[in-house]
Amino acid sequence: MKSRIYLDHAATTPVRDAARAALVEALGLTGNPSSVHGGGRAANALLEGARDTVARFAGVAPEHVVFTSGGTEAIALASNGARLAGPTRPRLLVGATEHSAVLQARDDVVLLPVDCDGQIDLAALRAALSEGPALVAVQAANNETGVIQPLAEVATLVREAGGLLLVDAVQAAGKMALPDADFVALSAHKLGGPPGIGALIVRDPESLIAIQRGGGQERGHRGGTPNLPGIAGFAAAVAQTHDWSAVATRRIALETRLKAAGAIIHGEAAPRLPNIGSIGLPGVAASTQVMMLDLEGYMVSAGAACSSGKVKASHVLAAMGLGAAAGEAIRVSLSPATTDAEIDAFAAAWLAMAARLGRKGAA
Ligand code: PLP
Repeated sequence: MKSRIYLDHAATTPVRDAARAALVEALGLTGNPSSVHGGGRAANALLEGARDTVARFAGVAPEHVVFTSGGTEAIALASNGARLAGPTRPRLLVGATEHSAVLQARDDVVLLPVDCDGQIDLAALRAALSEGPALVAVQAANNETGVIQPLAEVATLVREAGGLLLVDAVQAAGKMALPDADFVALSAHKLGGPPGIGALIVRDPESLIAIQRGGGQERGHRGGTPNLPGIAGFAAAVAQTHDWSAVATRRIALETRLKAAGAIIHGEAAPRLPNIGSIGLPGVAASTQVMMLDLEGYMVSAGAACSSGKVKASHVLAAMGLGAAAGEAIRVSLSPATTDAEIDAFAAAWLAMAARLGRKGAA
């Protein structure tokens, strides 16, 4: 049987051994962290120990960590629960290349353009902020291109305007320093933890009201009995560190090889995450590329994983001004465990595909 090579780590990562072990151990514990008996106290100790670990990872005190069901919920909580002065929620300004979790967090988002490399247009942000303070959502790094945003500049503008900054760090976490922001969204399944668990890091707990009330868990910020096995797995995953420089070297070598045969690397001129490459093959629909590579045993994606399983033209690449090319790129995303042999084999398969499809526009 043909071996299958997974190059879709931006969609989800394999659960690491330490995370799996911590999750299984927590499943064996009977007790609700809110119960006062011995079982409850043991569960609470596990919960707070995990919170300490995630807080250390994020560089904050434990009371600033709100566990959620993942990145989407963390973003929804900040987008809808953030408060500046007064009871009404602030305007929400979002980068055009944000994940759908941000773009669809509210139906009144104001889009900010990006440049052709996918970085936020700071002049447009400044202009939007001149109309008054707002909540601004700009991701740390993009899930389709790996492009890293100029967050220090963004943070300065937001702070000067008296606004709040929400950073979606779902893809960046564990691969680069986490930003200094009012809210930071994290997700465990992008960094070797289980799916369905994440956190919102909240700088000032007073700036956030709950959107999901109930039993008052998470210091009143997110009602509901916590997913203790997930949280234990999440904490075990963030406690592990990896050598991402070797991953970057592999990705760049791959991109260089494919470029020589006509590939276009989107966002190439911007700083990028070590593990994500957006690789365009002119004239060939992304869905065709994904299917052909899948038949050869390589799992990659066309832009973001979509719940419908359908491949649509990428809104990220479209926002970068790519026109038709927005529907002609695949995302290849590596892990620290991806080997040179896997990259070599993938490159050969891609080159064979490109030769077979007779690239338009190729060199
Ligand atoms: N933000 C980004 C940049 C993502 O890539 C994803 C997942 O694909 C999310 C948010 C949503 O995270 P979750 O799957 O934990 O809800």
